[in-house]
Amino acid sequence: LIEVRNLRKTYGSRVVLDDISLAVSRGDVVCLIGSSGSGKSTLLRCLDLLEPIDDGVIEFEGREVSDPGVDPRDVRREIGMVFQAYNLFPHRTVLANCTLAPRKVHGLSRRAARSRAVELLGRFGLGEHVDVHPDQLSGGQQQRAALVRALCTEPKLLLLDEITAALDPELVGDVLGIVRDLAAAGTTMVLATHEMAFAREVASRVCFLDGGRVLESGPPEQVLGDPVEPRTREFLRRVL
Ligand code: ATP
Ligand code: MG
Repeated sequence: LIEVRNLRKTYGSRVVLDDISLAVSRGDVVCLIGSSGSGKSTLLRCLDLLEPIDDGVIEFEGREVSDPGVDPRDVRREIGMVFQAYNLFPHRTVLANCTLAPRKVHGLSRRAARSRAVELLGRFGLGEHVDVHPDQLSGGQQQRAALVRALCTEPKLLLLDEITAALDPELVGDVLGIVRDLAAAGTTMVLATHEMAFAREVASRVCFLDGGRVLESGPPEQVLGDPVEPRTREFLRRVL
Protein backbone atom coordinates (compact mmCIF):
# COMPACT_ATOMS: atom_id res chain seq x y z
CA LEU A 1 0.00 0.00 0.00
CA ILE A 2 2.72 2.43 0.96
CA GLU A 3 6.41 1.92 0.44
CA VAL A 4 9.35 4.05 1.47
CA ARG A 5 12.79 3.53 -0.02
CA ASN A 6 15.98 5.14 1.23
CA LEU A 7 14.19 8.12 2.69
CA ARG A 8 16.36 10.88 4.05
CA LYS A 9 15.06 13.93 5.85
CA THR A 10 17.07 16.82 7.23
CA TYR A 11 16.27 19.93 9.20
CA GLY A 12 19.01 22.35 8.29
CA SER A 13 22.27 20.48 8.66
CA ARG A 14 20.71 17.89 10.95
CA VAL A 15 19.86 14.46 9.52
CA VAL A 16 16.63 13.39 11.23
CA LEU A 17 15.75 10.37 9.08
CA ASP A 18 18.51 8.45 7.37
CA ASP A 19 18.08 5.78 4.73
CA ILE A 20 14.67 4.61 5.94
CA SER A 21 13.04 1.80 3.97
CA LEU A 22 9.65 0.46 4.96
CA ALA A 23 6.89 -1.35 3.11
CA VAL A 24 3.36 -1.48 4.45
CA SER A 25 0.84 -3.86 2.90
CA ARG A 26 -2.94 -3.78 3.27
CA GLY A 27 -3.98 -4.94 6.72
CA ASP A 28 -0.54 -4.40 8.25
CA VAL A 29 -0.21 -2.75 11.63
CA VAL A 30 3.28 -1.32 11.89
CA CYS A 31 4.36 0.03 15.27
CA LEU A 32 7.20 2.55 15.40
CA ILE A 33 9.07 2.52 18.67
CA GLY A 34 12.19 4.34 19.82
CA SER A 35 13.43 7.02 22.18
CA SER A 36 12.25 10.58 22.11
CA GLY A 37 13.83 12.32 19.13
CA SER A 38 14.47 9.11 17.19
CA GLY A 39 12.28 10.33 14.32
CA LYS A 40 8.93 8.56 14.75
CA SER A 41 6.76 11.66 14.34
CA THR A 42 8.86 12.94 11.48
CA LEU A 43 8.50 9.64 9.64
CA LEU A 44 4.71 9.70 10.08
CA ARG A 45 4.61 13.28 8.84
CA CYS A 46 6.67 12.29 5.81
CA LEU A 47 4.24 9.43 5.08
CA ASP A 48 1.38 11.94 5.17
CA LEU A 49 3.39 14.18 2.82
CA LEU A 50 3.37 16.95 5.41
CA GLU A 51 7.15 17.28 5.18
CA PRO A 52 9.35 17.63 2.12
CA ILE A 53 11.95 14.88 1.96
CA ASP A 54 15.57 15.29 0.94
CA ASP A 55 16.16 11.98 -0.73
CA GLY A 56 14.46 8.68 -1.43
CA VAL A 57 11.05 7.66 -2.71
CA ILE A 58 7.57 7.28 -1.23
CA GLU A 59 5.10 5.20 -3.21
CA PHE A 60 1.41 5.03 -2.40
CA GLU A 61 -0.53 2.33 -4.25
CA GLY A 62 2.35 2.01 -6.66
CA ARG A 63 2.46 5.69 -7.51
CA GLU A 64 5.51 7.76 -6.70
CA VAL A 65 3.91 10.39 -4.50
CA SER A 66 7.16 11.98 -3.36
CA ASP A 67 7.47 13.28 -6.91
CA PRO A 68 7.24 17.09 -6.85
CA GLY A 69 4.56 16.94 -9.56
CA VAL A 70 2.11 15.18 -7.22
CA ASP A 71 -0.33 17.28 -5.23
CA PRO A 72 0.00 16.08 -1.61
CA ARG A 73 -3.68 16.85 -1.01
CA ASP A 74 -4.68 14.13 -3.49
CA VAL A 75 -2.73 11.61 -1.45
CA ARG A 76 -3.70 12.92 1.97
CA ARG A 77 -7.36 12.43 1.04
CA GLU A 78 -6.72 8.69 1.27
CA ILE A 79 -4.83 8.86 4.55
CA GLY A 80 -6.11 9.57 8.06
CA MET A 81 -3.80 11.00 10.68
CA VAL A 82 -4.36 11.47 14.40
CA PHE A 83 -1.89 13.26 16.67
CA GLN A 84 -1.14 13.21 20.34
CA ALA A 85 -3.44 16.09 21.22
CA TYR A 86 -5.36 19.07 19.92
CA ASN A 87 -7.00 17.10 17.20
CA LEU A 88 -10.49 18.50 17.09
CA PHE A 89 -11.70 21.91 15.96
CA PRO A 90 -12.74 23.45 19.30
CA HIS A 91 -15.45 25.74 17.92
CA ARG A 92 -17.32 22.95 16.13
CA THR A 93 -19.50 20.19 17.55
CA VAL A 94 -18.27 16.61 17.53
CA LEU A 95 -20.59 15.83 14.64
CA ALA A 96 -19.45 18.87 12.65
CA ASN A 97 -15.83 17.85 13.24
CA CYS A 98 -16.63 14.47 11.77
CA THR A 99 -18.56 15.64 8.72
CA LEU A 100 -16.30 18.49 7.62
CA ALA A 101 -13.67 16.60 5.62
CA PRO A 102 -16.08 14.07 4.10
CA ARG A 103 -18.17 16.96 2.78
CA LYS A 104 -15.49 19.45 1.80
CA VAL A 105 -12.73 17.12 0.65
CA HIS A 106 -14.62 14.02 -0.46
CA GLY A 107 -17.75 15.71 -1.74
CA LEU A 108 -20.24 13.72 0.32
CA SER A 109 -23.70 15.20 0.75
CA ARG A 110 -24.57 16.60 4.18
CA ARG A 111 -26.93 13.70 4.74
CA ALA A 112 -24.48 11.00 3.75
CA ALA A 113 -21.70 12.56 5.83
CA ARG A 114 -24.04 12.88 8.81
CA SER A 115 -25.30 9.34 8.69
CA ARG A 116 -21.79 7.91 8.37
CA ALA A 117 -20.53 10.06 11.26
CA VAL A 118 -23.48 9.25 13.52
CA GLU A 119 -23.05 5.55 12.84
CA LEU A 120 -19.32 5.61 13.64
CA LEU A 121 -19.71 7.85 16.70
CA GLY A 122 -22.33 5.46 18.01
CA ARG A 123 -20.16 2.45 17.35
CA PHE A 124 -17.32 4.04 19.32
CA GLY A 125 -19.44 4.98 22.31
CA LEU A 126 -19.97 8.64 21.49
CA GLY A 127 -23.58 8.44 20.40
CA GLU A 128 -24.70 10.74 23.19
CA HIS A 129 -22.08 13.33 22.51
CA VAL A 130 -22.57 14.16 18.85
CA ASP A 131 -23.86 17.68 19.46
CA VAL A 132 -21.43 18.87 22.12
CA HIS A 133 -18.21 20.80 21.66
CA PRO A 134 -14.88 19.04 22.25
CA ASP A 135 -14.17 20.87 25.53
CA GLN A 136 -17.22 19.15 27.05
CA LEU A 137 -15.63 15.74 26.50
CA SER A 138 -12.98 13.94 28.53
CA GLY A 139 -9.54 13.57 26.98
CA GLY A 140 -10.25 9.95 26.12
CA GLN A 141 -13.55 10.83 24.50
CA GLN A 142 -11.84 13.59 22.52
CA GLN A 143 -9.26 11.16 21.21
CA ARG A 144 -11.99 8.68 20.32
CA ALA A 145 -13.81 11.46 18.48
CA ALA A 146 -10.55 12.35 16.70
CA LEU A 147 -10.22 8.72 15.61
CA VAL A 148 -13.80 8.69 14.39
CA ARG A 149 -13.18 11.90 12.49
CA ALA A 150 -10.23 10.28 10.74
CA LEU A 151 -12.32 7.17 9.98
CA CYS A 152 -15.19 9.18 8.50
CA THR A 153 -13.17 9.77 5.35
CA GLU A 154 -12.69 5.99 4.98
CA PRO A 155 -8.91 6.26 4.74
CA LYS A 156 -6.88 3.51 3.16
CA LEU A 157 -4.13 4.15 5.67
CA LEU A 158 -4.32 5.41 9.23
CA LEU A 159 -1.31 7.13 10.81
CA LEU A 160 -1.43 7.48 14.58
CA ASP A 161 1.17 9.47 16.49
CA GLU A 162 1.19 8.56 20.18
CA ILE A 163 -2.50 9.15 20.45
CA THR A 164 -2.62 8.06 24.08
CA ALA A 165 0.43 9.98 25.30
CA ALA A 166 -1.52 12.97 26.58
CA LEU A 167 -4.21 10.91 28.32
CA ASP A 168 -4.71 10.05 31.96
CA PRO A 169 -3.80 6.40 32.50
CA GLU A 170 -7.38 5.30 33.09
CA LEU A 171 -8.41 6.67 29.68
CA VAL A 172 -5.62 5.04 27.73
CA GLY A 173 -7.24 1.61 27.63
CA ASP A 174 -10.36 3.09 26.12
CA VAL A 175 -8.58 4.58 23.14
CA LEU A 176 -6.29 1.59 22.67
CA GLY A 177 -9.41 -0.59 22.63
CA ILE A 178 -10.60 1.20 19.52
CA VAL A 179 -7.24 0.81 17.82
CA ARG A 180 -7.37 -2.88 18.72
CA ASP A 181 -10.82 -3.17 17.11
CA LEU A 182 -9.59 -1.37 14.00
CA ALA A 183 -6.61 -3.70 13.77
CA ALA A 184 -8.89 -6.71 14.10
CA ALA A 185 -11.07 -5.30 11.32
CA GLY A 186 -8.05 -5.19 9.01
CA THR A 187 -7.39 -1.44 9.03
CA THR A 188 -3.92 -0.63 7.71
CA MET A 189 -2.08 1.44 10.30
CA VAL A 190 1.30 2.87 11.07
CA LEU A 191 1.51 4.03 14.65
CA ALA A 192 4.11 5.53 16.92
CA THR A 193 3.67 4.34 20.47
CA HIS A 194 5.35 4.12 23.84
CA GLU A 195 2.93 1.37 24.92
CA MET A 196 5.08 -1.71 24.42
CA ALA A 197 2.52 -4.20 25.68
CA PHE A 198 0.05 -2.78 23.23
CA ALA A 199 2.55 -2.85 20.36
CA ARG A 200 3.21 -6.48 21.13
CA GLU A 201 -0.47 -7.27 20.97
CA VAL A 202 -1.58 -5.41 17.81
CA ALA A 203 1.51 -5.05 15.66
CA SER A 204 2.14 -7.22 12.66
CA ARG A 205 5.57 -5.60 12.61
CA VAL A 206 7.59 -3.47 15.01
CA CYS A 207 10.25 -1.03 13.80
CA PHE A 208 12.78 0.25 16.26
CA LEU A 209 14.06 3.69 15.29
CA ASP A 210 17.31 4.94 16.65
CA GLY A 211 18.84 8.25 15.65
CA GLY A 212 16.73 8.43 12.49
CA ARG A 213 17.49 4.91 11.29
CA VAL A 214 15.46 1.72 11.40
CA LEU A 215 17.84 -0.29 13.51
CA GLU A 216 15.69 -3.37 13.81
CA SER A 217 12.38 -4.46 12.35
CA GLY A 218 10.37 -7.64 12.51
CA PRO A 219 7.52 -9.48 14.23
CA PRO A 220 6.73 -8.13 17.71
CA GLU A 221 7.78 -11.36 19.43
CA GLN A 222 11.21 -10.98 17.91
CA VAL A 223 11.88 -7.23 18.21
CA LEU A 224 10.27 -6.87 21.64
CA GLY A 225 10.91 -10.34 22.98
CA ASP A 226 14.29 -11.28 21.62
CA PRO A 227 15.95 -8.27 19.97
CA VAL A 228 19.17 -8.74 18.06
CA GLU A 229 20.57 -5.23 18.42
CA PRO A 230 22.11 -4.15 21.72
CA ARG A 231 20.55 -0.69 21.31
CA THR A 232 17.08 -2.22 21.06
CA ARG A 233 17.74 -4.26 24.18
CA GLU A 234 18.93 -1.19 26.03
CA PHE A 235 15.86 0.78 24.95
CA LEU A 236 13.48 -1.98 26.04
CA ARG A 237 15.22 -2.32 29.37
CA ARG A 238 14.60 1.37 29.98
CA VAL A 239 10.92 1.41 28.99
CA LEU A 240 9.63 -1.94 30.20
P1 ATP B 1 9.02 11.72 20.61
O1 ATP B 1 9.03 10.30 21.11
O2 ATP B 1 9.55 12.67 21.65
O3 ATP B 1 7.74 12.14 20.03
P2 ATP B 1 10.05 11.37 17.91
O4 ATP B 1 10.67 10.03 17.75
O5 ATP B 1 8.66 11.55 17.42
O6 ATP B 1 10.15 11.79 19.45
P3 ATP B 1 10.66 13.51 16.11
O7 ATP B 1 9.64 14.46 16.62
O8 ATP B 1 10.40 12.87 14.82
O9 ATP B 1 11.01 12.42 17.22
O10 ATP B 1 12.01 14.32 16.03
C1 ATP B 1 13.19 13.79 15.47
C2 ATP B 1 14.26 14.85 15.50
O11 ATP B 1 13.93 15.90 14.60
C3 ATP B 1 14.46 15.50 16.85
O12 ATP B 1 15.81 15.62 17.09
C4 ATP B 1 13.80 16.86 16.71
O13 ATP B 1 14.46 17.80 17.50
C5 ATP B 1 13.97 17.14 15.23
N1 ATP B 1 12.85 17.97 14.70
C6 ATP B 1 11.56 17.60 14.65
N2 ATP B 1 10.80 18.55 14.06
C7 ATP B 1 11.65 19.55 13.74
C8 ATP B 1 11.49 20.82 13.10
N3 ATP B 1 10.30 21.24 12.67
N4 ATP B 1 12.60 21.59 12.94
C9 ATP B 1 13.81 21.15 13.34
N5 ATP B 1 14.03 19.96 13.94
C10 ATP B 1 12.97 19.17 14.15
MG1 MG C 1 6.89 12.12 18.33
